[in-house]
Amino acid sequence: MIKMASKNDYDELNQYLKNYLGGRSEKIADRNTIIWPLYKYFMKILQIAILDYFDIEIEDFIKKYKNLFDRWILIKNSIESISPKEEQIEFFHGIISMLRDFSGDSRHTSNTAPPLNRMDEIYNNAIPFNKWLIEQGKIYTDFKKKSKLRDIDLYLSRYSNRLLNDLEILQSELGDDPPFNFLIKEYYDQIPQAKVQLAKIREKVMKMNPLEESDVIFIIECLERKEKIEAEKWALVARNRCPKCGGRIEPRKWYSPHPSDEPPDEVHWRIGCVKCDFELDSGSENI
Ligand SMILES: [Zn+2]
Repeated sequence: MIKMASKNDYDELNQYLKNYLGGRSEKIADRNTIIWPLYKYFMKILQIAILDYFDIEIEDFIKKYKNLFDRWILIKNSIESISPKEEQIEFFHGIISMLRDFSGDSRHTSNTAPPLNRMDEIYNNAIPFNKWLIEQGKIYTDFKKKSKLRDIDLYLSRYSNRLLNDLEILQSELGDDPPFNFLIKEYYDQIPQAKVQLAKIREKVMKMNPLEESDVIFIIECLERKEKIEAEKWALVARNRCPKCGGRIEPRKWYSPHPSDEPPDEVHWRIGCVKCDFELDSGSENI
């Protein structure tokens, strides 16, 4: 679930920064202490960004990525996966690396502290970093949304293609003037236009253009009509009527050599129209 950052989250962030300013001091011990508000600020920024914009499992994230640097690398990889040439990445990478080094140092020594000007540099870039990250997060979310839509379009394009093939098979099977009732005949006669439209949909996807709602409606309508035509075809066949010319469908059986006085060595059968080439089944067998 995506949780939007609340105003409280940002109030809390600003408090961290005020703490930094309030504690800013030349004294080594103070300087070591005030690294932590900054560190927490950056941690918090990353956490909010992950919740709001990056599709990283939050539980996974909290368990596996405990420190600032690891969390940053995770987000950095996501940003680079969609915009590898983003110029600010290396800059902020430098800032966060510096913060990581300083926070690591302060844990171990009591007589050294990070230089104040470097800490100010981190401080001065905290808010720009936050803004930049939100921007990148939005770009990332947008990209993911579009690529998901693109997957759907590709699926619909493949589907249109299949529909197009099915319509072609129906046409070659049923000819120009199948004995359908008025409505189904109208659907059948519209197959040529439908094929043009389906080909256009496919072309649109190939040219990377997004499909519109009207395209999707068209595909569904086309499918429904195709099913009605098929149902009509089988309803005629069930009454032994040819769906191509309206003639009778009959089973026939004959032997070869035929005609001849010799005993037959092969049996042939055909279930189909007596008037045209429409057939349901045919074959032959040696006897
Ligand atoms: Zn026929």
